[in-house]
Amino acid sequence: VIEMGTPERSVITTCAYCGVGCSFKAEMQGDQVVRMVPYKHGKANRGHSCVKGRFAYGYASHKDRILNPMIREQIDQPWREVTWEEAIGFAANRLRGLQAQYGQKSIGVITSSRCTNEETFLVQKLARAVFGNNNTDTCARVCHSPTGYGLGQTFGTSAGTQDFDSVEHTDVVIVIGANPTDGHPVFAARLKKRLRAGAKLIVIDPRRIDLVKSPHVAAAHHLPLRPGTNVAVVTALSHVIVTEGLMDQAFIRERCDWDEFQDYAAFVSDPRHSPEATEMLTGVPATDLRAAARLFATGGNGSIYYGLGVTEHSQGSTTVMAIANLAMLTGNLGRPGVGVNPLRGQNNVQGACDMGSFPHELPGYRHVKNDDARAMFDALWGVTIDPEPGLRIPNMLDAAVDGTFKGLYCQGEDILQSDPDTKHVAAGLAAMDCVIVHDLFLNETANYAHVFLPGSTFLEKDGTFTNAERRINRVREVMKPRNGYADWEVTQLLANAMLQDAGRAPWHYTHPAQIMDEIAATTPSFAGVDYALLEEKGSVQWPCNAANPEGTPLMHVDGFVRGKGRFIVTEYVATDERTGPRFPLLLTTGRILSQYNVGAQTRRTENVIWHDQDVLEIHPHDAENRGLRDGDWVRLASRSGETSLRAKITDRVSPGVVYTTFHHPDTQANVITTDYSDWATNCPEYKVTAVQVSASNGP
Ligand code: SF4
Repeated sequence: VIEMGTPERSVITTCAYCGVGCSFKAEMQGDQVVRMVPYKHGKANRGHSCVKGRFAYGYASHKDRILNPMIREQIDQPWREVTWEEAIGFAANRLRGLQAQYGQKSIGVITSSRCTNEETFLVQKLARAVFGNNNTDTCARVCHSPTGYGLGQTFGTSAGTQDFDSVEHTDVVIVIGANPTDGHPVFAARLKKRLRAGAKLIVIDPRRIDLVKSPHVAAAHHLPLRPGTNVAVVTALSHVIVTEGLMDQAFIRERCDWDEFQDYAAFVSDPRHSPEATEMLTGVPATDLRAAARLFATGGNGSIYYGLGVTEHSQGSTTVMAIANLAMLTGNLGRPGVGVNPLRGQNNVQGACDMGSFPHELPGYRHVKNDDARAMFDALWGVTIDPEPGLRIPNMLDAAVDGTFKGLYCQGEDILQSDPDTKHVAAGLAAMDCVIVHDLFLNETANYAHVFLPGSTFLEKDGTFTNAERRINRVREVMKPRNGYADWEVTQLLANAMLQDAGRAPWHYTHPAQIMDEIAATTPSFAGVDYALLEEKGSVQWPCNAANPEGTPLMHVDGFVRGKGRFIVTEYVATDERTGPRFPLLLTTGRILSQYNVGAQTRRTENVIWHDQDVLEIHPHDAENRGLRDGDWVRLASRSGETSLRAKITDRVSPGVVYTTFHHPDTQANVITTDYSDWATNCPEYKVTAVQVSASNGP
């Protein structure tokens, strides 16, 4: 039952869950939100929403929120509530002491894709301008970092090419490694509408997701590949298109590097990439691969949408580049209805990457070795930025275990629960002398923290999020931060405490609009963005600058950002994670509609009524072999660890493949996952784990 009073006022803001970035009217009664109404003028959602966004306001007032700062000398001691001044002083002293003892590079930060652009910009600035190193990383590391790498290499910019409106002009769609119905529901509704109007659909996914067959929608082809073989399947599609002469020669000659295309064409034409050769490897029938390739190449405007089922693999970056190759090969870029579209998992993954959260990139995707970019920030900030890339999250943890990385400021990210190889994360955190967790709840990472700084929810934030279509949406303060300070203010307090200790000038931000002005002054793709423009337009898509004052709905219209599009040879290399007699099944993971990631927010909202536990989907054949009945408890074990959950017997998964969600803390999915990761970005291989399943008596 949802209590709804009469709203006294309303504030338009942006959902803080997935990368669709729906706009909402938060209706207020006193200082309470009584209802979230999808905003009809929101350009990403046009009056629609999903069940997650509608009830998101619940966690803001949940009893589990920590509203006062806390410190403790050692992690085995109880927490002590203190004033903000004492907590910040304690944190700054420890961090400064660690740098004095272990060196400037012994501490770092982790930013969150849940926070605003302005908050994220300040956190990476804290590392670069206050700590004096590039030890800044973001949770995008564990989801879409391969998108940044792959699209940067092929097209020259690390972002999706289209706006969501583009789907209304598409004729044939590939959905690969994504389940929009559950993960990006408002986009899924628009896609289904287009499919009902006659567009054709190809689904590449180990599991029979809802889009394969749901009321009024059926895929023309479902390619249920073996987990871990995306590169082989996409390369086989390109093989058919090249060997049957179905590519768009005019587009390739005009828009792409011809020499590189010829190398690529020779590579994919090799018989070892034929559908017949690929069938053995991937489990996808050759006839289906051929038919799908022909449909995509000849079906009109072709678009590709993908998700974490592409990126979270040891060849995540390779698959992104294979997808980019396929789009260039068929001339499907630079107009409505086509393009390469990463469906971003979190609300501000795009923005966190844009804001320079990575250890090798300054804001605007400029490498830290770029002398001109560094010189500009040096002059503005009065510092000398290190030209050497800093540590990625897994490298920070490795260095902590080795004793050279000692202090971490972690904003809005529960790395112990969300990062792979839980035991190693715990060992790294336990080895640090100062872990500062800045979050809403005492999360799992906070078990290893010395300082807890309360964070603010999206309803208490003022700033911007950038969604999956590069749309910069305003996030408006619906209520004052219950913890006393906005997150950007907390970062500034910590920065100023350290600057003051060093006798340096403090920061003087008094409103996030000033931070956006600094972003615009330093980041070419944001050069035309300010809060006045966002008020006037509602939102804009970057690049927004002198050349594109109204923003840019479609990228690469007349030419690629890098000049000529670059075909890259994408050799399939099998993951090191192998099945065998002990671990004969492959586990892959995903989400359900009502829950979001590890559930820290959604489990503290009305959404709990739709979900009380994760289950293990298993094919009837595999269940029968193990004597399992629907609903039985099973033990799920991998080489890394084990857990228990209930079995759901279904032919949505193929024989040999099992599937679970990871929303409930008891499931502890990351106790099971491996420490293999993408070769280019270290994005963890969450989607392929060899497991055994057996009957159990429960946890
Ligand atoms: Fe929109 Fe995503 Fe929020 Fe649902 S979770 S309301 S689709 S932004």
